[in-house]
Amino acid sequence: MIAYFVMECAVDSRIPTYSGGLGILAGDTLQSFADLEVPAVGITLLWKNGFTNQKLSNDGTQLDSPQDWDIEKYMQPTNIKIKIPLGGKDVTITAFKYVVESIKGDNEIDVYFLTPDTPENDPETRKICDRLYIEGGLTRLKQEIILGIGGYEMLKKLNYRPFIYHINESHSAFLIAGLMKDIGDLNRVKSRVVFTTHTPIPAAFDKFEMKDVKDMLSGYCEEKVFNDIYREDLEEKDELNLSWLAIKNAKNVVAVSRKHKFVSQHIFEGYKLKYVTNGVHHVKWASPHHKMLYAKYTAGWEEDPDLLRGASCIPDGDFVQAHILCKETLIEMINSETDSSFVTSDFTIAMAKRITHYKRNNLILSNPDKLIDIAEKKGAIQIIFAGKAHPADTDGLSIVKSIYDASRYISSKTKKVKIAFLENYNIHKANIILSGVDLWLNNPTRPLEASGTSGMKASLNGVPNFSVLDGWWLEACMEGINGWSIGPRTAWTDLSYSDDMHDLNDMYGKLEFNILDLYYKNYSDYIKIMKMAVSSIAPHFNTHRMVSEYVTDLYLTGIIMCYLEKEKDGIC
Ligand SMILES: *Cc1c(COP(=O)(O)O)cnc(C)c1O
Repeated sequence: MIAYFVMECAVDSRIPTYSGGLGILAGDTLQSFADLEVPAVGITLLWKNGFTNQKLSNDGTQLDSPQDWDIEKYMQPTNIKIKIPLGGKDVTITAFKYVVESIKGDNEIDVYFLTPDTPENDPETRKICDRLYIEGGLTRLKQEIILGIGGYEMLKKLNYRPFIYHINESHSAFLIAGLMKDIGDLNRVKSRVVFTTHTPIPAAFDKFEMKDVKDMLSGYCEEKVFNDIYREDLEEKDELNLSWLAIKNAKNVVAVSRKHKFVSQHIFEGYKLKYVTNGVHHVKWASPHHKMLYAKYTAGWEEDPDLLRGASCIPDGDFVQAHILCKETLIEMINSETDSSFVTSDFTIAMAKRITHYKRNNLILSNPDKLIDIAEKKGAIQIIFAGKAHPADTDGLSIVKSIYDASRYISSKTKKVKIAFLENYNIHKANIILSGVDLWLNNPTRPLEASGTSGMKASLNGVPNFSVLDGWWLEACMEGINGWSIGPRTAWTDLSYSDDMHDLNDMYGKLEFNILDLYYKNYSDYIKIMKMAVSSIAPHFNTHRMVSEYVTDLYLTGIIMCYLEKEKDGIC
């Protein structure tokens, strides 16, 4: 049994317990666990008010409010309760269960959403897990102890016997304290722990005051347990860095793309990392029209996404028809939610993802006059922006505003460039946008995109990527064959940062001289690239392949060690 721990988890488009890539990946991974019959259980937190509900005011300012949803409509209460000591107080934790059913309907994976929102707790405590990523400080520390230690104890209470504890991003790393408390031997603890690091931005790693951590955990384990797993050797002795806690106690430490491995190797000096490149769940992310198309021409693709290689042989007419139907759905959504009057025939680009500094969401608008000039020479351009900024991220919020301001400026100058900002980006909207556009744009600052997955979803639906050579795209891009790159292709070990001006010029240049000409003057060659996007990318960049690599490269080593130790029943 594998216990998969994650702070945010997107199991269903109606359940807003996620912020972005990490949560979506968790949902896709659990789906592949179910399909491939990997014995696993998911542990996450129940975010009663989701992440943030996004609205733009009349002047383009992002407004934040909680996301309300009906928990009991989608999940069953387990009514199982455990108590964990949290800062000298016993806190009761319960769990709701969501069942991920395999695509064929013949297997299930249980996912437990933990919450302290029960009548046994005082009103303050009940609110600890109301909103994802909004609270910092002690509340965040409590959330992560509930996830790590609460999750670990809940699995014991539910009679699970996991061999492997897979920590996805360091938020759940406190579970290691539980393991150490029960096993008492560091090497045996390590063989049970897999840690995947999902971001190469050290500023994003969770850090807490050591004193607070020790206070919080004092009722749970002796200080010795904690000292054994933390083994302070950092300069900042007063601070606990959860990523380091996870790294030091995991047999397998994993990055999410080959490039990310080299970047992380540099951050976690002295530790050896592996990598398993992320994927997307091919059935979840194919549009309804593409599902029908693939059923007709690449039968069996649902069970075996490798068969999507055959997409190259789909007749152009049928292939384009699926795309047009998706594009019509998209244009309808854009025109009903915004006043941008998009048309189906015009070349349409999407920039849809979390809005934050390193993603450079507004890069394409940096020189609006140049963009207008390109469109007037080569053909109309429609651009869809979507994504939420974290409500406390001032850089992100100002990007939202700048997109709004640039779109006002552009619409006062020309009809050849149209811009739409779609509010409240989510899984449902992502599905429609990424299958209906002509080009999927992604231009994060290299080398900060650990993997990225949205481009894989676009490719799966025959939409070519136009993207910075970082994360997964560095592994997948065949220039001018299955998409296009922005900026230079650097060595795996090159840790230098992107140059904004260089990337911008490259982006405008390729739009003007390659991409728009192909779309407006040579569409049959554009279709070739769309087909190659599917056949060269979907067979590899999916969670079935990813989960298979997890099992062979990460989980099996720990499981074999368990057997060698004659502990077939796990530790609990
Ligand atoms: C796939 C997805 C993401 C992740 O996008 P990246 O561009 O890979 O960061 C974020 N949000 C939603 C709704 C998604 O579907």
